[in-house]
Amino acid sequence: MQVLKFGGTSVANAENIRKVVSIVTAAKQKDKTIVVVSALGGVTDLLLSASSLAAEGDDSYKEKLAVVEQRHLEAVKQLIPVAQQSQLLSLVKKSCNELEDICSGIYLLRELTTRSKDRIASYGEWLSSRIIAETILSNGVEVAWKDSRELIITNSNYTAAEVDFTATAEKVRQYFSSSEAGLFLLPGFISADKKGITTTLGRGGSDYTAAILAACVDAVNLEIWTDVSGMMTADPRLTANARIIPRISYQEAMELSHFGAKVIYPPTIQPVMNKRIPVWIKNTFAPQDEGTLIEAAASKTGNIVRGISSINNIALLSLEGSGMIGIPGFSKRLFEALSNERINVILITQSSSEHSICVAVDSSAAALAKQVVDAAFANEITLQKVEPLTIENELSVAALVGENMKSHPGISGRMFSAMGKNGVNIRAIAQGSSEKNISAVISTKDVRKAINVLHEEFFETTYKQVNLFIAGTGNVGAKLLGQLQKQLGFLQQQMKLQVRLVGVSNSRKMLLKEEGINLEKWKGELENGESASLESFVEGIISRNLRNSIFVDVTANDKVAAVYDKLLQKSISVVACNKIAASSAYEQYKRLKDLANEFNCQFLFETNVGAALPIIGTLNDLLRSGDRVNRIDAVLSGTLNFVFNNYDGSRPFAEVVKQAQDEGYTEPDPRLDLSGTDVMRKIMILAREAGEKIEMNEISNESFMPESCMQGSVADFYAAMAKEEKHFKALFDNAAKAGCKLKFVATFNNGKAAVGLQHIDPAHNLYHLYGKDNIVLFYTERYPEQPMVVKGAGAGAEVTASGVFADIIRASR
Ligand code: ADP
Ligand code: ASP
Ligand code: MG
Repeated sequence: MQVLKFGGTSVANAENIRKVVSIVTAAKQKDKTIVVVSALGGVTDLLLSASSLAAEGDDSYKEKLAVVEQRHLEAVKQLIPVAQQSQLLSLVKKSCNELEDICSGIYLLRELTTRSKDRIASYGEWLSSRIIAETILSNGVEVAWKDSRELIITNSNYTAAEVDFTATAEKVRQYFSSSEAGLFLLPGFISADKKGITTTLGRGGSDYTAAILAACVDAVNLEIWTDVSGMMTADPRLTANARIIPRISYQEAMELSHFGAKVIYPPTIQPVMNKRIPVWIKNTFAPQDEGTLIEAAASKTGNIVRGISSINNIALLSLEGSGMIGIPGFSKRLFEALSNERINVILITQSSSEHSICVAVDSSAAALAKQVVDAAFANEITLQKVEPLTIENELSVAALVGENMKSHPGISGRMFSAMGKNGVNIRAIAQGSSEKNISAVISTKDVRKAINVLHEEFFETTYKQVNLFIAGTGNVGAKLLGQLQKQLGFLQQQMKLQVRLVGVSNSRKMLLKEEGINLEKWKGELENGESASLESFVEGIISRNLRNSIFVDVTANDKVAAVYDKLLQKSISVVACNKIAASSAYEQYKRLKDLANEFNCQFLFETNVGAALPIIGTLNDLLRSGDRVNRIDAVLSGTLNFVFNNYDGSRPFAEVVKQAQDEGYTEPDPRLDLSGTDVMRKIMILAREAGEKIEMNEISNESFMPESCMQGSVADFYAAMAKEEKHFKALFDNAAKAGCKLKFVATFNNGKAAVGLQHIDPAHNLYHLYGKDNIVLFYTERYPEQPMVVKGAGAGAEVTASGVFADIIRASR
């Protein structure tokens, strides 16, 4: 004997039912076969919603029932030859008239009992099973149809009836042993109590019907046919990367289904496990796929964590109070109060100080739970030994399942750290002593992210998904997007990083696309995006709540710098080419660094100093390894170095500055470079990274720019510089006379920072510095005389973009 169960999607319409018939026909050749079917997909929902509408006095219940009728009539017409249709069509009509009558009674009374609910829902399986049986018969295959209500006997706990296994086993054995048929077909889900009144086994209960029958007839096999090719490592609707688990133990399958894996109804495993009947999960739409085998022994091969699942609609109840310490019986009374009301406890934690007990229950039971628990502890509450029960809603449970987890230390550590890095706050934790399951209670809005993060951590050692949000598509931004596009393949193959651009914005337009923006077409897509709003861009990043999110600021805008705070607090890393934040008031700089620490993410701004040159990274490495900075000498302005390297009086100074701007080395307003302000910001950032609490106004600046050049617009600035040509020529001539070059030098020494134009003689370390290069000399305890030198191109969109890119990779890992 074998038992095959087909779920709602498998029998949703005529086309699918034909597939089912062909699977059944083939199976029957091998062995005596029992087939259990669900209602046509969606019909149970329609029936139950019709009954609720009727009870609310809403006569649109009739529309729902009309859909139910239509779907069944349609199926009959498509599946059964015309000449044989009439009997079945009138059966469908008669049933639907009965449903109308029942619902109209409910509508008039405005009263819906659980008993009526079961009666109404039972029509779904009853009709589907009749239609499928007739279809098989009309294909010339003999099949015996049997009403499950005559075999499966339960108590009268309507909508979730409990099976009387002794009575059921007797009826089932008697029926099947006395029949000669080789193929049986029965409705799932429905049963009857001792008085013969219809009950149901709970939503999704057709699986259970099949398992009960399999256990009672000692079937050799139970096959659950559904719309996926097996039990998967996580809910495929939450994780695109979920994959089929080839083999899993009964215990593991039970844990996974209890913790939300919808593919099998939780009670299903118990009866077949007791009889060691193997269970296969198979796909009606891909019967050739192997599927999942659920069996006795846990497979030692494969992943340590077998699967990840989640349950929504969880409420956390906490009972706390100093009076609880050391007094036995508190938890007993709590659980008694809950169980008297049949409130199912999903998870329990108790702190070792015994100050508090936390239990998770379904949200729908929370109000009742509070009522009964507060009543049970009324005395202690009055005496202030115990606080009234507190309830937290909108929670979910995320769980790791796997029997082999117990022999591998560190699983929970990895679980919590992966979630922590992504800002998933854990409200409570439970690990059964059998260690088949580790569960965490988290906010419902974090579920999708948490499941993906955990899936990545335990199943996708192959790669990690990184979600990017880029603000700014100017010089550097556009280059960065180009570099990303070129490197995507390499990052995936070599670095195991799957980088996805989810958001991009400039000052005019913005675009957010969770499935990812095509890096070849971002420009066009952004043009067609919505009008830019920094606030809604940030809101879009936060509300999407994607794992491994990184915000990249390639603007020079103070408003953009002001949003880091909010993002870091959501554990979203920030990579900034924008210097404004790191060079703002020390308190703000420090706050952002602290936030990154506190919320387990990164705040990186290597390109703030020397573009892509590894200056901040080198300084950090020196300090982390225990070195201390004595002095820093540096040329940190690519613009100024370019200008003084190219100016010898033969061309006007203003023209050389213009060239630097045209070639993309300057800040959008070149005065920030020429005035030395930009260099002040850079040396301040280095000083701060070296541990100095320093502000802009503490840095001395010997500006070489005449006052007249610093007023008005950028155009005014160029005009004024042209007028001051003599001044610039004199600066050059004086240096040349002394055999020196002009360099705009920044120093940090003994806690003091200064910037200014200096004469540099040929023997000096800073002399040989060409083009737009930067140089930094670190004099430290380990490098007291011969400094550690970092030197190279310190400006330009392409190199800056590559520095931002490197920070993105750093933040991803
Ligand atoms: P049926 O109607 O055949 O009983 P269900 O809808 O009850 O099917 O269950 C199958 C669905 O369960 C799949 O379509 C899938 O979306 C969902 N599901 C949730 N978690 C898992 C999981 N871990 N593995 C496979 N499917 C899962
Ligand atoms: N039809 C019932 C439901 O939708 C039972 C089942 O399909 O397993 O809950
Ligand atoms: Mg199901």
